[in-house]
Amino acid sequence: MIQAELMTEIRKWKKESNTFIFAHNYTLPEVQDIADFTGDSLELSIKAKEVKAEKIIFCGVSFMAETAKILSPESKVLHPVPAAGCAMADMATAEKIRQYREKNPDTVIVAYVNTTAAVKAEVDICCTSANAEKIVASIPEDKKILFLPDRNLGRNVMNSLGRKMDLWAGYCPVHDNIRAEMLDEARRLHPQAAVMVHPECAEDVVKNAEYAMSTGAMLRFLPKATEKEFIVGTEEGILHRMRKENPDKIFHPLLPQIVCPDMKKITLEDVLKSLKEEVYEVKLTVEMMDKARKCIENMLAVK
Ligand code: SF4
Repeated sequence: MIQAELMTEIRKWKKESNTFIFAHNYTLPEVQDIADFTGDSLELSIKAKEVKAEKIIFCGVSFMAETAKILSPESKVLHPVPAAGCAMADMATAEKIRQYREKNPDTVIVAYVNTTAAVKAEVDICCTSANAEKIVASIPEDKKILFLPDRNLGRNVMNSLGRKMDLWAGYCPVHDNIRAEMLDEARRLHPQAAVMVHPECAEDVVKNAEYAMSTGAMLRFLPKATEKEFIVGTEEGILHRMRKENPDKIFHPLLPQIVCPDMKKITLEDVLKSLKEEVYEVKLTVEMMDKARKCIENMLAVK
C-alpha cells in the first residue's frame, strides 16, 4: 500500500475504534503526521493524563508506552513494536535502586522519565528534560539527591542550579556521541546559524551551544526566535516539525545522522496492524502502576 493509502486507512480505523494516537517528536515524519498528538516526554505525559480514549496507540519507545498506561489505566494502551526500547532506560534497574536506597535511606531519588515502570515504582519523583531544573530546585536544600539514569542531564542541572547531586552512570548513546568540536565544525559550515542542543548532551557540548533545551521547548522557542538559521544537535526526527512549523527558518542537522534506531522502529504499517489487531497491549500490574504513578504525579504537582 502506498503511504497516502496507509494514512487514509489508519485515519478510518482510528475514528471507528475511538483510538487516540500519540507520537514522540523523534518518530518517523509520517508517523508524526497521523498522530493525534505529538510532543516531548513532558507534553506526552500531561496529555496521556487528560485523554479519555478507549484505546491509545503509543508511537515511541517502550517506557513512554508504559507511562501512558500508568497515566491512563482505563485505556487499552497499545505499543505497535514492543522491541522499540531505550538504551538509556535499560541502564537503571529496580534492583540496583533498591540496593542504593538501603545504603542511602534519606536520599531523594529523582528519575528522568526515561526509565522503566519498575524503576519508577522505586523512586521519589520523576522529571523530564523540560522540567528537570524545576523539579530538582523544588527539593529542600538540606536533602541529598540521587539523579538517574542520565549523568549528562544530571550534570547540566547541577551546573545550572549550582547544586551537588549523586549521578547514575547512564547516558543516551545518541546524544552522548555528540562532541563539542562537532559544534565548531558545523559553525564553520553555517556561520550565521545558532546552535541548539538537547540537555542529554555532555556538559562541554551544552556549554558550547547557544541554546540547550528539550524538544518541546525548542519548538515553542523557534517561532519567537530572532535568528533565522539553526544547527540542531538532537535526534533528527525533530527537524520534521521544526521545518513544518517554521517555514521561514533554515535548519541544519549538527551531523548528517543523529538517529535513535529505536525511535524509528514504528512504521505506518505497524500502526495499522496495531489498530486492526489491537497489538501489542502494554500490561502492568495494578500494584506497579500505582507505585510508579506516584512519582509522575509528584512531578506534575510541582508548580
Ligand atoms: S534518543 Fe536516547 S534517550 Fe531517547 S529513546 Fe533513543 S536512546 Fe533513549
